[in-house]
Amino acid sequence: MSSLKIPLSSPDITEKEISAVVRVLKSGRLSLGGETKAFEEEWAHYVGAGHAVSVSSGTAGLHCVMRALEIGEGDEVITSPFSFIASANCILFEKATPVFVDIDPATLCLDPSKIEEKITPRTKALLVVHLLGTACVMDRILAIARQHRLYVIEDACEAVGAMANGCHVGTRGDAGIYAFYPNKQMTTAEGGMIVSANRQLADICRSLRNQGRDLQDGNVFERLGYNYRLSEIHAALGRVQLSRLEQILAKRLQVAKWYMKALKDCEEIILPPGTGDPSASWFIYLIQLSKKFNGEDRNHVRRELAKKGIETGAYFAPIHLQRFYREQFGFREGDYPVTESVAQRTIALPFYNQLSCNGVNYVAGRLISHLELVGEKVND
Ligand SMILES: *Cc1c(COP(=O)(O)O)cnc(C)c1O
Repeated sequence: MSSLKIPLSSPDITEKEISAVVRVLKSGRLSLGGETKAFEEEWAHYVGAGHAVSVSSGTAGLHCVMRALEIGEGDEVITSPFSFIASANCILFEKATPVFVDIDPATLCLDPSKIEEKITPRTKALLVVHLLGTACVMDRILAIARQHRLYVIEDACEAVGAMANGCHVGTRGDAGIYAFYPNKQMTTAEGGMIVSANRQLADICRSLRNQGRDLQDGNVFERLGYNYRLSEIHAALGRVQLSRLEQILAKRLQVAKWYMKALKDCEEIILPPGTGDPSASWFIYLIQLSKKFNGEDRNHVRRELAKKGIETGAYFAPIHLQRFYREQFGFREGDYPVTESVAQRTIALPFYNQLSCNGVNYVAGRLISHLELVGEKVND
């Protein structure tokens, strides 16, 4: 038993992915070829978007969109402090100012009822993060954006495959961004995709990711661009993963259901926001300890689980409290109390397609017994 190791995440790679990658390697065409183009077309079709532009990461996609929408110095972008840091960093890349709105504890997405009080004449966009594969309340967000003439950027990097109001999450704003890092629902190793209904916006992103080149004449550089291209190898991997996505999402849903069954009767555990929502897509399995626990208790539980070979994560460190955010913008502890309270009580449990029911029950059993031990101390 002591040698048992349960990792936090693990990609689901089959012989199909391996042979697709080998085929590209043998083809002689390693970048800007048919695989990339086909991946983009298949992605646009899958999510029901007008245009899809592949990029080298989700972060690169977010950056291209900021740039394409000409958001820069002096502009404010409203976003969530409880997210993976890239969703806010892309605002800083362009010297714009992030304006955080605290989260709704039920969805862990930014609270739409707190957006309007943060809008100023400098506000240019709402950058919403569909956290953990659970959709933000888009009707409300789109209505606010329309009323105040703001762009809506959807960070759907954790929400591949999630649906809301009959649409794929990420397709209702001005642009949506998906990511394919190995711990995401599907992977290209590294990679991302931008989608938009707006051809002009998509074309600018297409130019930006390829050194700012004119799309017709490769010798003309129209703007300052980057090398944010996705290679043919990554695209081929992505195409196979996309073809298997339905099966992948079903496996993840199954693992989430096992966790739910094993944990639902434990009063000290708050289940993830996607629980019971059939349109959610499962990215990670993030539970919260109840409010009677603090960050130290959580870290203690994580260390105990680690001793049993169970790898866990503490997502997400509040973005506003990172040193360079504090220094640049003067954020302090207490600025976003819901985010800060949730962030110190989360534990991401091992979550991947190959995880068995026995594996889930083992993790859940260890978690519950350690919580009981810590809980007794807290009650004393
Ligand atoms: C994964 C992720 C990204 C982008 O990640 P990359 O590693 O750059 O592909 C962006 N935003 C959120 C919320 C994410 O979880």
